[in-house]
Amino acid sequence: MGIGASTRKGQTPPPPPDVTPTKPETPALQEPAAQSTDGRELESVATKAPEVHKLLGKDKYVKEYGAIAMEDRNSKKAFQGTLFLFCARITDDIIFTYRDHATGSVFAKRFTDEELGEEKNKQGVRFTWAPFFKSIATALIKSRTTAVAAGVNAKTVSFTIVNKDTPISYPFTVTMDLVSSKQKPSRKAFFLYVMEPLSRSLQYSRHRATEGTKGLATVQMECNIKVCSAAAELHKRKVEELLPLIRPLREESAVCSHVAMTLGRDVRNMERHIYDQKNKKILKHPLDALYDEGGAQYFQHTMWSPEHRPREEEPDELLMECIRAAFPLTNGSTLESISNVLEQPNLKKRIDENGNRNLIEEAFEIFKGIDRWDYDTIQLEIITNGNALFYTTYLLLYKMDLVAYFQMDDNVVRNFLVAVQSAYHPNPYHNAMHGADVTQINYYIMIVAGLREKCMLSQEEVLASIIAGAVHDFDHPGLNNNFHSRTNSFLATLYNDRSILENHHIACTFELLRSPRYDIFAPLNADQKQLVRDTMLEMVLATDMGNHAKIFKNFTVRMSETSDWHSKKDDVRLALSMSIKMADISNCARPNHIYAEWAKNISKEFYLQGDAERKLQLSISPFMDRTKEKEEFPKGQISFMMYIVQPMIEAISEFLPSLSFGINLCNENKDYWRRKQEAGTE
Ligand code: AMP
Ligand code: ZN
Repeated sequence: MGIGASTRKGQTPPPPPDVTPTKPETPALQEPAAQSTDGRELESVATKAPEVHKLLGKDKYVKEYGAIAMEDRNSKKAFQGTLFLFCARITDDIIFTYRDHATGSVFAKRFTDEELGEEKNKQGVRFTWAPFFKSIATALIKSRTTAVAAGVNAKTVSFTIVNKDTPISYPFTVTMDLVSSKQKPSRKAFFLYVMEPLSRSLQYSRHRATEGTKGLATVQMECNIKVCSAAAELHKRKVEELLPLIRPLREESAVCSHVAMTLGRDVRNMERHIYDQKNKKILKHPLDALYDEGGAQYFQHTMWSPEHRPREEEPDELLMECIRAAFPLTNGSTLESISNVLEQPNLKKRIDENGNRNLIEEAFEIFKGIDRWDYDTIQLEIITNGNALFYTTYLLLYKMDLVAYFQMDDNVVRNFLVAVQSAYHPNPYHNAMHGADVTQINYYIMIVAGLREKCMLSQEEVLASIIAGAVHDFDHPGLNNNFHSRTNSFLATLYNDRSILENHHIACTFELLRSPRYDIFAPLNADQKQLVRDTMLEMVLATDMGNHAKIFKNFTVRMSETSDWHSKKDDVRLALSMSIKMADISNCARPNHIYAEWAKNISKEFYLQGDAERKLQLSISPFMDRTKEKEEFPKGQISFMMYIVQPMIEAISEFLPSLSFGINLCNENKDYWRRKQEAGTE
């Protein structure tokens, strides 16, 4: 190697040595040996110990870059060759290499740290290692170099190195030996002295360009994608090869597993039958039991509700006949005059013979009030021996002429209403009389107060609304939704704690309707049936007080937005939902003698639930603790009226103004409790 060194005049003396001792490292990999120009191996790590000293700046300015590369261009910017500076992978030697583009020849020179130190001194470079390496690196990156042939087997590369801090500059020259040429190509040398620094510097610049770790991750991902897609391609080809073999086998195994499944089911069924035969009992899922026979079914909601076995009892044939004779009201007849039918000769004779005159006359006196807010359901229940729901609904279906309009079979109507009534438990509050009460008030709102006109209800909707009132608490066990959820009852699980009882009421109703004996909707066509069903579902589910706030808000919003309540189906259903909801809590807006009766009934039912909660060691629900009746019940009633009933009747009165008398009645009922409270504190 030829070295041309020059020192500036007035140069400072050489600095102290700046080498840091480091431990020698055991090489992990052997580098490929390359041939030197004189035929010796340029290096073999197996035979050469690594350097003991580390030169400051070498890591930072050479190794970190992987390799420093520089293009050698002549004055016309023609591409002459590429110069690389990098560190040998294991020995850490500094290596300069040069590839001549024209000839493809590769030249190289390798320095140990010691040798480079000697070279540095020889060429008169006076600054310490760090600026020396920094300068070499900068020179290679930024400055131009000139490479000239130094005989056939050597190349001399010169560049200027500068210490910016001082600033002092020196020309630096490296003479390299030919390691590969067209005449004598060496793959190993080409790999070691060209490919390796080239790929190292590419890797580094790619890493930099893609910004640190994020970029690195992208590069890694790209690599992974390539590897994975290659693997996927391989697998795909394998799968394609195997598919024709596998497909028929898979199909066969699918058929076999299906056969196994069906056989398994048959075996289980047979086992169950044998067990049932042996034990002489039919084990049924509660819903199977509920649904596979006609009529209202026995269902044990929870072990805390008394058992109720529905019993269908025939209502009074003659009274039904009198109702059919009186309704629908014919031209000229009024509610006041309905009792006249009892004097029709054929009926009169039979009434007199039958000896039921008192009952029929009294019932007819009550029926005269069917269009009144104070219709006496309670008295009707008493005189008819618990048949108020049946007679009220039967009467309404005839009064509205729905039986004839839909060509319903009177026997089926009777069967259905008897079954519905039988499904109500004899609870203190949620009994058939409450069903009758809600049916009549819901009818009142629809027909007397004017909802039918306002919403332009169809006959199907009128029918659905009347039946919805009648069935809305079908098979109510006297324990509320909250109790069902808290005790993990079967229905709470079945309906996922959503409107548990309301879902049950309406599901059981439609189950009852599946049997022709009870199917009052049989004569309706499919569209009519669907309309009736949808309306009933919406109305009965709306009676869940858990949804009160949502429905009430919807209604007030729509009230502020529109006065057209008939064009949109949703608005019609919303109005009908409000109607049944109002009817359901209307006891609080009824004349005080009626309200007081209902309040007594609901308190009894509340306390029965409270007793069950106490036994179960659950916290007792608000207003259900009988030991706190005196102080809690009046408060509960007042707040129920203030926050629920009053806003409801006010909103409905805005919708149907004739209902505004209900506001006063509600106030009177609130005052009733306030007076009681005052009397109690005196
Ligand atoms: P339903 O269970 O379908 O009859 O829904 C109406 C609900 O309103 C009842 O379950 C009670 O929770 C509530 N409710 C009705 N009337 C009263 C009343 N007078 N006092 C307290 N709550 C009542
Ligand atoms: Zn109810």
